[in-house]
Amino acid sequence: MIRDADVVVIGSGGLGAATAYFLMARGGRRVALLDRHDLASQTSPRAAGNAALLRSTDVMCRLAGRAVDWLLRFTADTGEPLDIVRSGSLKAARTDADAAILAREAERGQALGLGTSLLSAEAAHRMHPFFQPRGVRSVVHTPGDVYFEPSHVASGYAAAAGKLGAALMPHTTVTGIDVRGGVVEGVETDRGRIASPVVVDAAGAWARQVAATAGIHVPMVPTRHQVLITEPVEGARAELPIVRIMDAAVYVRPCWGGFLAGGYEMTPAQFDMDQLPPGFSIADTPLDLAVLRRLMDGVREQLPVLSTAPLRLHRGGVPTMTPDGQHIVGPVPGAAGFFVASGCNVAGLSIAPAIGEELARWIVDGRSSEDLSDMSIARFGSEWRDEVRLRRAAAWEYWHFYSYEALRT
Ligand SMILES: Cc1cc2nc3c(=O)[nH]c(=O)nc-3n(C[C@H](O)[C@H](O)[C@H](O)COP(=O)(O)OP(=O)(O)OC[C@H]3O[C@@H](n4cnc5c(N)ncnc54)[C@H](O)[C@@H]3O)c2cc1C
Repeated sequence: MIRDADVVVIGSGGLGAATAYFLMARGGRRVALLDRHDLASQTSPRAAGNAALLRSTDVMCRLAGRAVDWLLRFTADTGEPLDIVRSGSLKAARTDADAAILAREAERGQALGLGTSLLSAEAAHRMHPFFQPRGVRSVVHTPGDVYFEPSHVASGYAAAAGKLGAALMPHTTVTGIDVRGGVVEGVETDRGRIASPVVVDAAGAWARQVAATAGIHVPMVPTRHQVLITEPVEGARAELPIVRIMDAAVYVRPCWGGFLAGGYEMTPAQFDMDQLPPGFSIADTPLDLAVLRRLMDGVREQLPVLSTAPLRLHRGGVPTMTPDGQHIVGPVPGAAGFFVASGCNVAGLSIAPAIGEELARWIVDGRSSEDLSDMSIARFGSEWRDEVRLRRAAAWEYWHFYSYEALRT
């Protein structure tokens, strides 16, 4: 057990492991990566593994582009495996309102150099024979979108950080952050104290509990999200594009010879991690296949295969939703040396390399390369301590995952 470090990163999911890796890649720092469970074992390996280049703001688009670049050269950089396919994606509108949004998105994607184009439903069907054109107004094709094996990312970054000399500490629970006179001095764990002038809270669904030990409120709501994977389906080639149906908030991509699909329901299950049993692990999350079946029924005309193919696997995890749908990343005012990487909004794994890189830069150089003020925890006022209001806003963001993101542009 080490007793001091230059940086303690709490949580070895995608966000924490990437931060530790990029810190080690900069060199010259002793970094400890702590996790209460096995390394990289909680929400990150249960994700869908989709990465969208077109995001809600230009900064997010640049970060998403950089993250995809890092993911494409993951093995070359880290020496760790990552299955990744540049399949492109099709985003489909079934309503006139969504079609208008898609038209703007296509223009914006072109302006950003993403090569997006508007397609007819029939043209999209020719690209993806399992996507039926019935009831579809228009489709945007983004050729650079990728999907990847989610379980490889956090474990790979953690292993690579370890190879560069980071102290990897699974089964070490942080029980408190020491902040004296507004300055971070270290963390308390169930295995003893680690002195450190910099602490990063990347504790996923538990990020609120960790920050609360220092009196800091992180306004996000741990929210269940689930996917299903079908048995192999003849013709489900790995290169078929990801499909997203806006108003139904459903996505699907090829997986293991079949399809992986998920979606965003109107009233998601939200959790207070304090109310769960002490040894709770994300594997214990109560799942509900009926939620996914209803979502798949809602796209039966466009994606009938999702209602007919036999089920191979059903899994879920607990990403963290914020009341405005933006991540919470960066230093925490009033606690010098304390950083947070949370509020993943069900899109944190695909952006993790860029967030980790930016946080490492912030810690080492004192500033990020992008203006991340939209992600600052300082944007939230005390009104977000109202749990009812917070939960309502977080659920709304969850349900409007596709269309609202576009409306904000
Ligand atoms: C079904 C599903 C599909 C998804 N699809 C996508 C997708 O397609 N694309 C995408 O980008 N994102 C997707 N996501 C979201 C993505 O999984 C998350 O954004 C991402 O994994 C969050 O990473 P994290 O590091 O914050 O959390 P985690 O991976 O949960 O890591 C947090 C870690 O902190 C540790 N920890 C907690 N408390 C403590 C403590 N006190 N002391 C020490 N350690 C602690 C935990 O044990 C855990 O290992 C999906 C999520 C789910 C569930």
